[in-house]
Amino acid sequence: MKFLFLLLLIALSFPFYSQSQDSGLAGKTIILDAGHGGTALTDKFRVGPTGEREEWINLRVALILQNLLEARGARVIMSRVSDENVLLSKRAELAKENEADLFLSIHHNATADPEVNFPIIYFHGNTSENKASVLLARKIADALLNNFFEPSTPVSIASDYTIFSNSGTAVLRNTYGIPGVIAEASFFTNPSEEKLLKDPVHNRKEALAYLAAIEAFFKEDRLPILEKNSLVDLPPFDTFQEAERLTEQALSWYQDCKQAKELMKSGNSQNLEKAYDLFTRSARSFPDSFVAAESHMRRAEILYILGKEEQAKIAALRAQEYFATLEVK
Ligand SMILES: [Zn+2]
Repeated sequence: MKFLFLLLLIALSFPFYSQSQDSGLAGKTIILDAGHGGTALTDKFRVGPTGEREEWINLRVALILQNLLEARGARVIMSRVSDENVLLSKRAELAKENEADLFLSIHHNATADPEVNFPIIYFHGNTSENKASVLLARKIADALLNNFFEPSTPVSIASDYTIFSNSGTAVLRNTYGIPGVIAEASFFTNPSEEKLLKDPVHNRKEALAYLAAIEAFFKEDRLPILEKNSLVDLPPFDTFQEAERLTEQALSWYQDCKQAKELMKSGNSQNLEKAYDLFTRSARSFPDSFVAAESHMRRAEILYILGKEEQAKIAALRAQEYFATLEVK
């Protein structure tokens, strides 16, 4: 009888055992970094239309994801577990000290235009050098799109050089060498999105999407991360900073790109130069958007036509190295 009971116990526990074995997460060290924290009294811009704050959403998603990953055997290290301010350098140190297999910084996005809502995933540096992080970014973009957006929704997979043109973001720069991204799943400045983000059931769905992406990432062959600027060393492209991004001009990022494409059709050199300026302005005013990649490509095309071959090469290379498409080309 005792033996039968033991057999039954083993049989019952088998599905759970096999689940944790199949996930590919057992023994992996994962750093979860819930973006920001502890700034409710001091900053007024990281807040949605009805008062929900980005750092609270980030933490809720991160804590749920921690449980999901640990249940599958991963070793999870949290940069914070409460609404407190943790130095960026400390967050990166955690990853380095613990020889992490993956670094994920969880964020949600804000912009002046309440209509805007799409995912942006940042990797550090250049696509041709930081291949492992670009792969992770692709898996996350894919999971977010499949679960939360219309299939036609554009997604940005962008280098952090698009927003900080000289050195990228602190957490990704200081963890370079470990597959890592900053993921902005959606925009809390969009009123209906903010409503969803306040709901813990929705937060859990987001954590499940991250879990699927992380599992998919570890199932793939390990890709290299080469030394920074070993293959490509682009000059910085200065972009609008925070306050400038809220100006009237910056708000026309999409319209500028559209109008420039129309001007290009005419082919005359005066219109080409006007188009070039509009593409440049679009790429500066929303530098991490899905139209910025196209704007850089079009700038390259115009520069070629105008005989500025060296500048054209730089613009084309920037489009290629600072932005990745969902599918591998
Ligand atoms: Zn953030």
